[in-house]
Amino acid sequence: ASTPGVLLQVDNARKQFGGVVAVNNVSFDVQAREIVALIGPNGAGKSTTFNLITGVLPPTSGNISVLGKAVGNAPPQDVVKLGISRTFQHVKLVPDMTVLENVAIGAHLRGHSGAISSMFRLDRGDEAKLLAEAARQIERVGLGDQMHQLAGSLSLGQQRIVEIARALCVDPMLLLLDEPAAGLRHMEKQRLGALLRDLRAGGMSVLLVEHDMGFVMDLADRIVVLDFGTKIAEGTPAAIKTNPEVIKAYLGA
Ligand code: ADP
Ligand code: MG
Repeated sequence: ASTPGVLLQVDNARKQFGGVVAVNNVSFDVQAREIVALIGPNGAGKSTTFNLITGVLPPTSGNISVLGKAVGNAPPQDVVKLGISRTFQHVKLVPDMTVLENVAIGAHLRGHSGAISSMFRLDRGDEAKLLAEAARQIERVGLGDQMHQLAGSLSLGQQRIVEIARALCVDPMLLLLDEPAAGLRHMEKQRLGALLRDLRAGGMSVLLVEHDMGFVMDLADRIVVLDFGTKIAEGTPAAIKTNPEVIKAYLGA
């Protein structure tokens, strides 16, 4: 059972690929209204941990639960229903469709079977509802003026924010972001950080994988550090910055 305030509980999660232990009995949690960063060198197990949380991969052992409900071996579309929504490491927008269309289609696919064909079975009323919800989320992230522009004409920073709008359409309690600041310019990072703080103020939690240490240290309430699949440290940005184990993991070859 989870205590009140614990949104996500990762309890002794393990994932082996043959002889490779990608995630080695890792435990951590995410509280309500908290921004947690998952960091670590390449190959540390960050993406695999995300895939366990979102039901993309079943754990070899261990438990993951959202508000006390086990994610278990639930497929990704059922994990979404528990209140988790994610973005991916690489932008997955259709460049020659508008921002509105991208958000509406993404929202539809997340909420339903995942089959493109289901989009064509929408009746007019459902389509109108979907577009209205998409428009609401685009306004919420501050891209209302770009709603009818082609997604491919936006800056990378704006495209990342469009992806967040899409993830928000399912009304998640926890947003998982895979390297949201990668490749962004300073101003775009500032804007992204401000948006994530706004979402937190609105009651949402965020778990992000991120390589940009400046961005992480400035934004996260708490940091979990993985190295070779094992959690080596957890704490506030100030504590993590000076943790000898963490410094060794990043500097050691
Ligand atoms: P990170 O995201 O921190 O860079 P990953 O979670 O992608 O790390 O990978 C952790 C380890 O698991 C690495 O050694 C990687 O090679 C291995 N791994 C990840 N996915 C697979 C897979 N599908 N099959 C085999 N090994 C994998
Ligand atoms: Mg990765």
